[in-house]
Amino acid sequence: MDFNLPTDLVAYLDELDRFIAREIKPLEEADDNIRFFDHRREWARTDFENGGLPRREWELLLRKAKDLADKAGHLRFAIPKRYGGKDGSNLWMAVIREHFAAKGLGLHNDLQNEHSIVGNLPLVTMLDRYGSAEQKAMIEGSIAGKYRITFGLTEPEHGSDATHMETRAVPATRDNVKGWLINGEKMWTTGMHVATHCALFARTSGNDGDARGITCFLVPARSDGVKVEQYMWTFNMPTDHPRVSFSDVFVPEDALFGEVGRGLSLAQCFVHENRIRQAASSLGAAPCRCMAAWAIRDTSRSSTSTAITVATASPKAARKSRCERSRASCSAIWEPASDEAEVADRLCTRRCRHGGDGSARDRPVSTQSAATAPSPAERPHDVRRVNHPSRGCRKYVCSLARPIYQCGNSRVTR
Ligand SMILES: Cc1cc2nc3c(=O)[nH]c(=O)nc-3n(C[C@H](O)[C@H](O)[C@H](O)COP(=O)(O)OP(=O)(O)OC[C@H]3O[C@@H](n4cnc5c(N)ncnc54)[C@H](O)[C@@H]3O)c2cc1C
Repeated sequence: MDFNLPTDLVAYLDELDRFIAREIKPLEEADDNIRFFDHRREWARTDFENGGLPRREWELLLRKAKDLADKAGHLRFAIPKRYGGKDGSNLWMAVIREHFAAKGLGLHNDLQNEHSIVGNLPLVTMLDRYGSAEQKAMIEGSIAGKYRITFGLTEPEHGSDATHMETRAVPATRDNVKGWLINGEKMWTTGMHVATHCALFARTSGNDGDARGITCFLVPARSDGVKVEQYMWTFNMPTDHPRVSFSDVFVPEDALFGEVGRGLSLAQCFVHENRIRQAASSLGAAPCRCMAAWAIRDTSRSSTSTAITVATASPKAARKSRCERSRASCSAIWEPASDEAEVADRLCTRRCRHGGDGSARDRPVSTQSAATAPSPAERPHDVRRVNHPSRGCRKYVCSLARPIYQCGNSRVTR
Protein backbone atom coordinates (compact mmCIF):
# COMPACT_ATOMS: atom_id res chain seq x y z
CA MET A 1 0.00 0.00 0.00
CA ASP A 2 1.23 3.49 -0.84
CA PHE A 3 1.23 5.65 2.31
CA ASN A 4 2.42 8.81 0.55
CA LEU A 5 0.07 11.72 1.06
CA PRO A 6 -2.00 12.65 -1.99
CA THR A 7 -0.62 15.79 -3.65
CA ASP A 8 -3.94 17.63 -3.32
CA LEU A 9 -3.86 16.98 0.44
CA VAL A 10 -0.31 18.34 0.68
CA ALA A 11 -1.46 21.39 -1.28
CA TYR A 12 -4.36 21.86 1.14
CA LEU A 13 -2.00 21.74 4.12
CA ASP A 14 -0.03 24.55 2.45
CA GLU A 15 -3.20 26.53 1.91
CA LEU A 16 -4.13 26.10 5.59
CA ASP A 17 -0.65 27.21 6.68
CA ARG A 18 -0.95 30.34 4.56
CA PHE A 19 -4.39 31.07 6.03
CA ILE A 20 -3.02 30.65 9.57
CA ALA A 21 -0.12 33.00 8.88
CA ARG A 22 -2.37 35.57 7.23
CA GLU A 23 -5.42 35.61 9.51
CA ILE A 24 -4.98 33.57 12.66
CA LYS A 25 -1.47 34.53 13.79
CA PRO A 26 -2.21 38.29 13.76
CA LEU A 27 -5.23 37.66 15.99
CA GLU A 28 -3.14 35.47 18.28
CA GLU A 29 -0.58 38.25 18.58
CA ALA A 30 -3.10 41.07 19.11
CA ASP A 31 -4.18 42.42 22.53
CA ASP A 32 -1.81 40.14 24.43
CA ASN A 33 -3.87 37.14 23.28
CA ILE A 34 -0.64 35.21 23.41
CA ARG A 35 -1.25 34.96 27.17
CA PHE A 36 -3.69 32.17 26.32
CA PHE A 37 -0.87 30.12 24.82
CA ASP A 38 2.36 30.96 26.60
CA HIS A 39 3.45 30.07 30.15
CA ARG A 40 0.53 32.10 31.53
CA ARG A 41 -2.08 30.11 29.68
CA GLU A 42 -3.64 28.11 32.48
CA TRP A 43 -4.30 31.27 34.48
CA ALA A 44 -5.41 33.26 31.44
CA ARG A 45 -7.88 30.60 30.40
CA THR A 46 -9.28 29.55 33.75
CA ASP A 47 -11.84 31.28 35.91
CA PHE A 48 -10.59 29.62 39.08
CA GLU A 49 -13.11 31.40 41.27
CA ASN A 50 -15.98 30.18 39.12
CA GLY A 51 -15.64 26.43 39.34
CA GLY A 52 -12.52 26.38 37.18
CA LEU A 53 -14.57 27.03 34.04
CA PRO A 54 -13.10 28.57 30.89
CA ARG A 55 -12.99 32.36 30.97
CA ARG A 56 -15.48 34.02 28.68
CA GLU A 57 -12.81 36.01 26.84
CA TRP A 58 -10.92 32.80 26.06
CA GLU A 59 -14.00 31.20 24.55
CA LEU A 60 -14.87 34.35 22.60
CA LEU A 61 -11.38 34.40 21.11
CA LEU A 62 -11.76 30.79 19.95
CA ARG A 63 -15.12 31.65 18.40
CA LYS A 64 -13.55 34.58 16.55
CA ALA A 65 -10.92 32.27 15.06
CA LYS A 66 -13.61 29.78 14.05
CA ASP A 67 -15.63 32.52 12.36
CA LEU A 68 -12.58 33.61 10.36
CA ALA A 69 -12.00 30.00 9.34
CA ASP A 70 -15.65 29.59 8.37
CA LYS A 71 -15.50 32.67 6.19
CA ALA A 72 -12.40 31.31 4.50
CA GLY A 73 -14.11 27.96 3.85
CA HIS A 74 -12.08 25.79 6.24
CA LEU A 75 -14.19 25.28 9.37
CA ARG A 76 -16.72 23.00 7.67
CA PHE A 77 -14.15 20.98 5.74
CA ALA A 78 -15.24 17.60 7.17
CA ILE A 79 -18.99 17.95 6.73
CA PRO A 80 -21.13 17.39 3.63
CA LYS A 81 -21.19 19.93 0.81
CA ARG A 82 -24.91 20.51 1.34
CA TYR A 83 -24.02 22.19 4.65
CA GLY A 84 -21.26 24.27 3.13
CA GLY A 85 -18.57 21.67 3.79
CA LYS A 86 -16.11 19.87 1.54
CA ASP A 87 -16.99 16.24 2.28
CA GLY A 88 -13.52 15.91 3.82
CA SER A 89 -12.54 12.33 4.54
CA ASN A 90 -11.37 10.91 7.85
CA LEU A 91 -7.93 10.37 6.36
CA TRP A 92 -7.61 14.03 5.40
CA MET A 93 -8.91 15.07 8.82
CA ALA A 94 -6.39 12.83 10.58
CA VAL A 95 -3.52 14.25 8.51
CA ILE A 96 -4.68 17.83 9.13
CA ARG A 97 -4.97 17.13 12.85
CA GLU A 98 -1.48 15.70 13.04
CA HIS A 99 -0.11 18.60 11.01
CA PHE A 100 -1.79 21.21 13.23
CA ALA A 101 -0.74 19.59 16.48
CA ALA A 102 2.85 19.30 15.26
CA LYS A 103 2.88 23.09 14.79
CA GLY A 104 2.52 23.43 18.58
CA LEU A 105 0.09 25.41 20.70
CA GLY A 106 -1.80 28.13 18.94
CA LEU A 107 -5.09 29.68 18.05
CA HIS A 108 -5.22 27.51 14.92
CA ASN A 109 -5.69 24.36 17.00
CA ASP A 110 -5.85 23.55 20.67
CA LEU A 111 -5.82 19.99 21.90
CA GLN A 112 -7.13 20.88 25.31
CA ASN A 113 -10.65 21.51 24.10
CA GLU A 114 -10.39 20.31 20.51
CA HIS A 115 -10.75 23.79 19.14
CA SER A 116 -9.59 23.90 15.55
CA ILE A 117 -9.94 26.11 12.50
CA VAL A 118 -10.82 22.89 10.67
CA GLY A 119 -13.79 21.88 12.74
CA ASN A 120 -14.32 18.56 14.39
CA LEU A 121 -18.11 18.46 14.17
CA PRO A 122 -19.32 14.95 15.03
CA LEU A 123 -22.67 16.26 16.25
CA VAL A 124 -23.36 17.63 12.77
CA THR A 125 -22.80 14.16 11.35
CA MET A 126 -25.14 12.68 13.97
CA LEU A 127 -27.85 15.25 13.24
CA ASP A 128 -27.45 14.68 9.52
CA ARG A 129 -27.63 10.89 9.71
CA TYR A 130 -30.13 10.38 12.51
CA GLY A 131 -31.97 13.65 13.16
CA SER A 132 -35.63 14.38 12.44
CA ALA A 133 -36.35 17.27 10.06
CA GLU A 134 -36.53 19.64 13.04
CA GLN A 135 -33.29 18.35 14.45
CA LYS A 136 -31.55 18.66 11.07
CA ALA A 137 -32.63 22.29 11.08
CA MET A 138 -30.28 22.77 14.05
CA ILE A 139 -27.20 21.95 11.96
CA GLU A 140 -26.43 25.47 10.79
CA GLY A 141 -26.87 26.86 14.31
CA SER A 142 -24.67 24.18 15.81
CA ILE A 143 -21.82 25.12 13.45
CA ALA A 144 -22.23 28.83 14.05
CA GLY A 145 -22.36 28.43 17.84
CA LYS A 146 -26.08 29.08 18.36
CA TYR A 147 -26.61 25.52 19.57
CA ARG A 148 -24.15 23.62 21.68
CA ILE A 149 -24.99 19.92 22.00
CA THR A 150 -23.02 17.92 24.52
CA PHE A 151 -22.44 14.17 24.33
CA GLY A 152 -23.87 12.34 27.34
CA LEU A 153 -22.64 8.77 27.20
CA THR A 154 -20.05 8.17 29.93
CA GLU A 155 -21.28 7.59 33.48
CA PRO A 156 -19.52 7.55 36.84
CA GLU A 157 -19.46 3.75 36.79
CA HIS A 158 -19.34 3.08 33.04
CA GLY A 159 -17.05 4.36 30.33
CA SER A 160 -15.38 2.15 27.75
CA ASP A 161 -18.24 -0.32 27.62
CA ALA A 162 -21.14 1.81 26.51
CA THR A 163 -23.57 -1.08 26.55
CA HIS A 164 -23.64 -0.83 30.35
CA MET A 165 -25.32 2.21 31.81
CA GLU A 166 -27.43 3.06 34.82
CA THR A 167 -29.38 5.86 33.15
CA ARG A 168 -32.93 4.76 32.36
CA ALA A 169 -35.79 6.29 30.36
CA VAL A 170 -39.40 5.09 30.54
CA PRO A 171 -42.46 6.20 28.54
CA ALA A 172 -44.49 8.82 30.39
CA THR A 173 -47.21 11.39 29.83
CA ARG A 174 -47.15 14.87 31.31
CA ASP A 175 -49.89 17.47 30.79
CA ASN A 176 -51.34 15.21 28.09
CA VAL A 177 -48.03 15.24 26.25
CA LYS A 178 -46.51 11.84 25.51
CA GLY A 179 -42.84 11.50 26.13
CA TRP A 180 -40.15 9.95 28.31
CA LEU A 181 -39.01 10.27 31.90
CA ILE A 182 -35.25 10.07 32.34
CA ASN A 183 -33.22 9.31 35.47
CA GLY A 184 -29.48 8.83 35.78
CA GLU A 185 -26.08 10.43 35.99
CA LYS A 186 -23.47 11.24 33.36
CA MET A 187 -19.81 12.10 33.71
CA TRP A 188 -17.27 14.11 31.70
CA THR A 189 -20.13 15.68 29.76
CA THR A 190 -17.94 18.26 28.07
CA GLY A 191 -19.41 21.70 27.46
CA MET A 192 -22.45 21.63 29.74
CA HIS A 193 -21.67 25.17 31.00
CA VAL A 194 -22.64 26.60 27.60
CA ALA A 195 -24.85 23.79 26.33
CA THR A 196 -28.27 24.25 24.83
CA HIS A 197 -28.85 20.48 24.63
CA CYS A 198 -27.38 17.17 25.67
CA ALA A 199 -27.46 14.12 23.39
CA LEU A 200 -28.25 11.82 26.27
CA PHE A 201 -28.05 8.04 26.15
CA ALA A 202 -30.37 5.97 28.33
CA ARG A 203 -31.43 2.36 28.44
CA THR A 204 -35.08 2.00 27.46
CA SER A 205 -35.22 -1.81 27.16
CA GLY A 206 -33.11 -4.96 27.29
CA ASN A 207 -30.39 -5.91 29.72
CA ASP A 208 -26.98 -4.59 30.67
CA GLY A 209 -24.58 -5.46 27.92
CA ASP A 210 -27.22 -5.54 25.16
CA ALA A 211 -26.37 -3.39 22.17
CA ARG A 212 -30.07 -2.93 21.48
CA GLY A 213 -32.29 -1.10 23.92
CA ILE A 214 -30.23 2.08 24.33
CA THR A 215 -31.97 5.24 23.14
CA CYS A 216 -30.60 8.70 22.48
CA PHE A 217 -32.57 11.83 23.45
CA LEU A 218 -31.88 15.44 22.62
CA VAL A 219 -32.51 16.91 26.06
CA PRO A 220 -32.65 20.70 26.50
CA ALA A 221 -29.80 21.46 28.87
CA ARG A 222 -31.89 23.73 31.09
CA SER A 223 -34.75 21.23 31.56
CA ASP A 224 -36.11 20.78 35.08
CA GLY A 225 -34.15 18.01 36.78
CA VAL A 226 -30.86 18.55 34.91
CA LYS A 227 -28.17 19.51 37.39
CA VAL A 228 -24.42 19.96 37.11
CA GLU A 229 -23.16 18.30 40.29
CA GLN A 230 -19.46 18.95 39.95
CA TYR A 231 -16.94 20.14 37.41
CA MET A 232 -14.09 17.64 37.23
CA TRP A 233 -10.84 19.56 37.61
CA THR A 234 -8.29 18.25 35.18
CA PHE A 235 -4.50 18.25 35.07
CA ASN A 236 -4.83 20.76 32.34
CA MET A 237 -7.22 23.55 33.30
CA PRO A 238 -9.76 25.01 32.66
CA THR A 239 -12.36 22.33 32.97
CA ASP A 240 -15.68 22.14 31.21
CA HIS A 241 -16.22 18.48 32.08
CA PRO A 242 -18.94 17.98 34.69
CA ARG A 243 -20.75 15.18 36.39
CA VAL A 244 -24.42 15.83 35.63
CA SER A 245 -27.50 14.33 37.24
CA PHE A 246 -30.83 13.82 35.49
CA SER A 247 -33.68 13.47 37.97
CA ASP A 248 -37.18 12.85 36.62
CA VAL A 249 -36.37 14.82 33.50
CA PHE A 250 -39.38 14.78 31.19
CA VAL A 251 -38.90 15.14 27.44
CA PRO A 252 -41.63 14.97 24.78
CA GLU A 253 -41.58 12.37 21.99
CA ASP A 254 -39.90 14.74 19.57
CA ALA A 255 -36.78 14.74 21.77
CA LEU A 256 -36.06 11.25 20.45
CA PHE A 257 -32.79 11.38 18.52
CA GLY A 258 -32.80 8.42 16.12
CA GLU A 259 -34.85 5.29 16.69
CA VAL A 260 -35.95 3.91 20.03
CA GLY A 261 -33.51 1.22 21.12
CA ARG A 262 -30.95 2.01 18.41
CA GLY A 263 -29.04 4.74 20.21
CA LEU A 264 -25.75 2.87 20.24
CA SER A 265 -25.39 3.64 16.52
CA LEU A 266 -25.40 7.34 17.33
CA ALA A 267 -22.78 6.84 20.03
CA GLN A 268 -20.61 4.92 17.59
CA CYS A 269 -21.12 7.57 14.94
CA PHE A 270 -19.70 10.15 17.37
CA VAL A 271 -16.66 8.16 18.44
CA HIS A 272 -15.86 6.95 14.94
CA GLU A 273 -15.80 10.55 13.74
CA ASN A 274 -13.97 11.85 16.73
CA ARG A 275 -11.44 9.46 18.22
CA ILE A 276 -9.23 8.74 15.23
CA ARG A 277 -8.73 12.49 14.94
CA GLN A 278 -7.77 12.72 18.59
CA ALA A 279 -5.26 9.95 18.06
CA ALA A 280 -3.85 11.76 15.05
CA SER A 281 -3.56 14.95 17.12
CA SER A 282 -1.67 13.04 19.78
CA LEU A 283 0.71 11.81 17.11
CA GLY A 284 1.33 15.36 16.01
CA ALA A 285 2.00 16.52 19.55
CA ALA A 286 4.15 13.55 20.60
CA PRO A 287 7.38 14.50 18.85
CA CYS A 288 7.08 18.06 20.25
CA ARG A 289 6.86 16.70 23.79
CA CYS A 290 9.65 14.25 23.21
CA MET A 291 11.97 16.80 21.73
CA ALA A 292 11.24 19.36 24.41
CA ALA A 293 12.02 16.79 27.06
CA TRP A 294 15.29 15.77 25.51
CA ALA A 295 16.32 19.31 24.81
CA ILE A 296 15.93 20.08 28.50
CA ARG A 297 17.86 17.00 29.51
CA ASP A 298 20.61 17.81 27.06
CA THR A 299 21.10 21.24 28.53
CA SER A 300 21.01 19.65 32.00
CA ARG A 301 18.40 21.99 33.31
CA SER A 302 16.60 19.82 35.75
CA SER A 303 13.15 20.55 34.96
CA THR A 304 10.05 21.16 36.74
CA SER A 305 7.53 21.20 34.06
CA THR A 306 5.45 18.21 34.34
CA ALA A 307 4.42 17.38 30.92
CA ILE A 308 8.08 17.17 30.24
CA THR A 309 8.68 14.99 33.26
CA VAL A 310 6.05 12.68 31.94
CA ALA A 311 7.52 12.67 28.49
CA THR A 312 10.95 11.76 29.82
CA ALA A 313 9.47 8.93 31.82
CA SER A 314 9.53 6.74 28.80
CA PRO A 315 12.64 6.35 26.72
CA LYS A 316 12.59 8.34 23.54
CA ALA A 317 12.92 5.27 21.38
CA ALA A 318 10.03 3.49 23.00
CA ARG A 319 7.81 6.50 22.60
CA LYS A 320 8.81 6.94 19.01
CA SER A 321 8.09 3.33 18.25
CA ARG A 322 4.67 3.65 19.88
CA CYS A 323 4.05 6.66 17.65
CA GLU A 324 5.01 4.69 14.59
CA ARG A 325 2.71 1.85 15.59
CA SER A 326 -0.12 4.28 16.11
CA ARG A 327 0.62 5.98 12.83
CA ALA A 328 0.43 2.59 11.11
CA SER A 329 -2.92 2.07 12.81
CA CYS A 330 -4.14 5.45 11.63
CA SER A 331 -2.99 4.60 8.15
CA ALA A 332 -5.37 1.69 8.09
CA ILE A 333 -8.10 4.21 7.41
CA TRP A 334 -6.77 4.27 3.88
CA GLU A 335 -8.87 1.15 3.56
CA PRO A 336 -12.24 2.53 4.55
CA ALA A 337 -14.78 0.16 5.97
CA SER A 338 -12.30 -2.67 6.35
CA ASP A 339 -12.02 -4.74 9.52
CA GLU A 340 -8.56 -3.29 9.86
CA ALA A 341 -9.98 0.22 9.98
CA GLU A 342 -12.28 -0.86 12.79
CA VAL A 343 -9.36 -2.35 14.70
CA ALA A 344 -7.27 0.75 14.02
CA ASP A 345 -10.05 2.90 15.34
CA ARG A 346 -10.14 0.89 18.55
CA LEU A 347 -6.37 0.91 18.94
CA CYS A 348 -6.19 4.63 18.41
CA THR A 349 -9.07 5.22 20.75
CA ARG A 350 -7.26 3.28 23.45
CA ARG A 351 -4.09 5.20 22.87
CA CYS A 352 -5.66 8.58 23.17
CA ARG A 353 -7.51 7.93 26.43
CA HIS A 354 -6.45 6.35 29.66
CA GLY A 355 -9.83 6.41 31.28
CA GLY A 356 -11.42 9.68 32.20
CA ASP A 357 -10.28 9.52 35.79
CA GLY A 358 -6.72 9.51 34.52
CA SER A 359 -7.25 13.16 33.65
CA ALA A 360 -8.85 14.21 36.91
CA ARG A 361 -6.82 16.57 39.02
CA ASP A 362 -8.17 15.32 42.29
CA ARG A 363 -6.95 11.75 42.02
CA PRO A 364 -3.62 9.99 42.04
CA VAL A 365 -3.14 8.59 38.60
CA SER A 366 -1.96 5.12 39.39
CA THR A 367 -2.66 3.89 35.87
CA GLN A 368 -0.18 6.31 34.40
CA SER A 369 2.94 4.33 35.02
CA ALA A 370 6.00 4.85 32.88
CA ALA A 371 4.64 2.29 30.48
CA THR A 372 1.40 4.13 29.96
CA ALA A 373 2.31 7.79 30.20
CA PRO A 374 -0.55 10.13 29.46
CA SER A 375 -1.53 11.08 26.00
CA PRO A 376 0.93 13.61 24.68
CA ALA A 377 -1.92 15.93 23.89
CA GLU A 378 -1.85 18.94 26.25
CA ARG A 379 -1.61 17.34 29.63
CA PRO A 380 -0.51 17.79 33.17
CA HIS A 381 0.37 21.18 34.36
CA ASP A 382 2.26 20.13 37.40
CA VAL A 383 2.64 16.50 38.22
CA ARG A 384 5.07 14.72 40.46
CA ARG A 385 6.17 11.18 40.26
CA VAL A 386 6.25 9.35 43.56
CA ASN A 387 6.31 5.78 44.65
CA HIS A 388 2.97 4.14 44.97
CA PRO A 389 3.16 2.57 48.42
CA SER A 390 0.57 -0.14 48.07
CA ARG A 391 1.16 -1.26 44.53
CA GLY A 392 4.89 -0.77 44.31
CA CYS A 393 4.51 1.12 41.08
CA ARG A 394 4.92 4.74 40.20
CA LYS A 395 2.06 7.08 40.25
CA TYR A 396 1.71 10.73 39.46
CA VAL A 397 0.33 13.09 41.99
CA CYS A 398 -0.99 16.40 41.01
CA SER A 399 0.45 19.31 42.91
CA LEU A 400 -0.82 22.81 42.89
CA ALA A 401 0.39 26.11 44.18
CA ARG A 402 -1.37 25.59 47.46
CA PRO A 403 -0.79 22.45 49.53
CA ILE A 404 -4.44 21.57 49.71
CA TYR A 405 -6.89 22.65 47.13
CA GLN A 406 -10.60 22.34 47.32
CA CYS A 407 -12.33 21.58 44.07
CA GLY A 408 -15.98 20.69 44.14
CA ASN A 409 -16.51 17.76 46.44
CA SER A 410 -13.01 16.49 46.15
CA ARG A 411 -9.66 17.43 47.58
CA VAL A 412 -6.27 17.46 46.02
CA THR A 413 -3.32 16.97 48.30
CA ARG A 414 0.37 17.13 47.78
C1 LIG B 1 -11.25 15.41 29.08
C2 LIG B 1 -12.32 14.39 28.84
C3 LIG B 1 -13.45 14.73 28.15
C4 LIG B 1 -14.47 13.79 27.96
N1 LIG B 1 -15.63 14.15 27.31
C5 LIG B 1 -16.65 13.28 27.24
C6 LIG B 1 -17.91 13.69 26.72
O1 LIG B 1 -18.07 14.83 26.29
N2 LIG B 1 -18.92 12.80 26.73
C7 LIG B 1 -18.77 11.52 27.21
O2 LIG B 1 -19.75 10.76 27.17
N3 LIG B 1 -17.59 11.09 27.68
C8 LIG B 1 -16.54 11.95 27.73
N4 LIG B 1 -15.34 11.55 28.26
C9 LIG B 1 -15.23 10.22 28.80
C10 LIG B 1 -14.41 9.30 27.95
O3 LIG B 1 -15.07 8.98 26.76
C11 LIG B 1 -14.17 8.09 28.85
O4 LIG B 1 -13.22 8.51 29.80
C12 LIG B 1 -13.70 6.90 28.11
O5 LIG B 1 -14.75 6.37 27.37
C13 LIG B 1 -13.15 5.81 29.04
O6 LIG B 1 -14.09 5.49 30.03
P1 LIG B 1 -13.68 5.49 31.58
O7 LIG B 1 -13.16 6.85 31.91
O8 LIG B 1 -14.83 5.01 32.38
O9 LIG B 1 -12.48 4.50 31.68
P2 LIG B 1 -12.54 2.86 31.84
O10 LIG B 1 -13.62 2.35 30.98
O11 LIG B 1 -12.67 2.64 33.32
O12 LIG B 1 -11.15 2.51 31.32
C14 LIG B 1 -9.95 2.67 32.10
C15 LIG B 1 -8.78 2.04 31.34
O13 LIG B 1 -9.04 0.63 31.13
C16 LIG B 1 -8.96 0.32 29.74
N5 LIG B 1 -10.00 -0.64 29.40
C17 LIG B 1 -11.31 -0.51 29.63
N6 LIG B 1 -11.97 -1.61 29.22
C18 LIG B 1 -11.05 -2.44 28.71
C19 LIG B 1 -11.11 -3.72 28.14
N7 LIG B 1 -12.25 -4.39 27.98
N8 LIG B 1 -9.95 -4.29 27.71
C20 LIG B 1 -8.77 -3.63 27.87
N9 LIG B 1 -8.65 -2.41 28.42
C21 LIG B 1 -9.78 -1.82 28.84
C22 LIG B 1 -9.17 1.63 29.01
O14 LIG B 1 -8.55 1.64 27.73
C23 LIG B 1 -8.53 2.62 29.95
O15 LIG B 1 -7.15 2.69 29.73
C24 LIG B 1 -14.31 12.46 28.44
C25 LIG B 1 -13.14 12.13 29.13
C26 LIG B 1 -12.16 13.06 29.34
C27 LIG B 1 -10.93 12.69 30.09
